[in-house]
Amino acid sequence: MPVLIFIDQSEGHIKKASLEAISYGVAVAKQSGDTAEGIILGKVTDDITALGKYGLLKIHHIDNEALNHLDAQVFTHVIAQVVEVVKAKLVIFSNNVDGKSIAPRLSVTLKAGLVSGAVALPDISNGFVVKKSVFSGKAFANIAINSDIKIIALNPNSYEVAVAGDAKAEVLLFNAQVAAAKVKVTNVNKVKGDVPLSEADIVVSGGRGLKGPENWGMIEELARVLGAATACSRPVADAHWRPHHEHVGQTGLAIAPNLYIAIGISGAIQHLAGVNRSKTIVVINKDPEAPFFKAADYGIVGDAFEIVPKIIEEVKKVKGVA
Ligand SMILES: Cc1cc2nc3c(=O)[nH]c(=O)nc-3n(C[C@H](O)[C@H](O)[C@H](O)COP(=O)(O)OP(=O)(O)OC[C@H]3O[C@@H](n4cnc5c(N)ncnc54)[C@H](O)[C@@H]3O)c2cc1C
Repeated sequence: MPVLIFIDQSEGHIKKASLEAISYGVAVAKQSGDTAEGIILGKVTDDITALGKYGLLKIHHIDNEALNHLDAQVFTHVIAQVVEVVKAKLVIFSNNVDGKSIAPRLSVTLKAGLVSGAVALPDISNGFVVKKSVFSGKAFANIAINSDIKIIALNPNSYEVAVAGDAKAEVLLFNAQVAAAKVKVTNVNKVKGDVPLSEADIVVSGGRGLKGPENWGMIEELARVLGAATACSRPVADAHWRPHHEHVGQTGLAIAPNLYIAIGISGAIQHLAGVNRSKTIVVINKDPEAPFFKAADYGIVGDAFEIVPKIIEEVKKVKGVA
């Protein structure tokens, strides 16, 4: 009974979160002596046979124009057909935008138990128990799934991508029934920027301590030299200093980069709710009592306008960039 892993792509390119889901799914399959197979929908430009190096040896590809943009109902219907044909008992998603909209629908369609926000491999020593993050990352819960078919949506950046060898995956064209979409995407306005915030390894974020939009040059410059995405606190977006898609926190985007650099942000609980899954947090704030220091791995007490230009200079020296 294979473990089926949904491979998420954007404009034909495999998302980093999918590589984590694949590595996770392959490890779960190994735990239970099953095989791992992938499913990918829509037109793909990346070489998906290369996903074999993560241990995925079979990929079901449904190449249909109607699947080039996410329509959760249509995607769910197609994935359910693949689950039925390959007799998958476990389906893995990344808990990103696509996973969050498809996994619950698939759970209803298949009458399958779902754990979303998983952060570790399931414990199969006594049943099937999945550890998940709860209360905006402040606690963990262990949830037993008792249904025949199970679904897990893995939190991005919770599981390391693991290369298993140099094998090529076999791509099987799956002939699925694709329902007519109820909504039509007429145009897509993509957020500009080299690194999408939700996928970024490093995020440089600014708060009200930066005083105004005219001071964002140093935030963008630090992000550029680090190859990072930029983010901001909510009041900054509310004041239109930065676009709303950069706002992170309880009411904004929840992110989990490897490195989150918070500059002139106080660290209110609503802000932390969106960033506290970051692997390493660096805080720069002139107030030593700023609450963010309690959540920081590294803290610099001082004026951002003095510190950030010095960091940029040092990073440029280390990286040898202009
Ligand atoms: C229901 C609800 C939902 C919310 N959702 C969100 C959310 O999703 N995301 C979010 O961010 N907020 C959210 N908020 C708002 C949140 O409570 C805080 O008000 C907000 O995060 C504060 O933003 P800030 O840290 O940028 O600004 P401030 O609280 O004004 O902090 C600015 C910080 O900059 C420091 N500073 C000032 N000058 C300098 C300098 N020169 N150098 C270095 N440091 C300096 C100050 O010491 C201070 O700590 C929400 C609030 C509510 C009620």
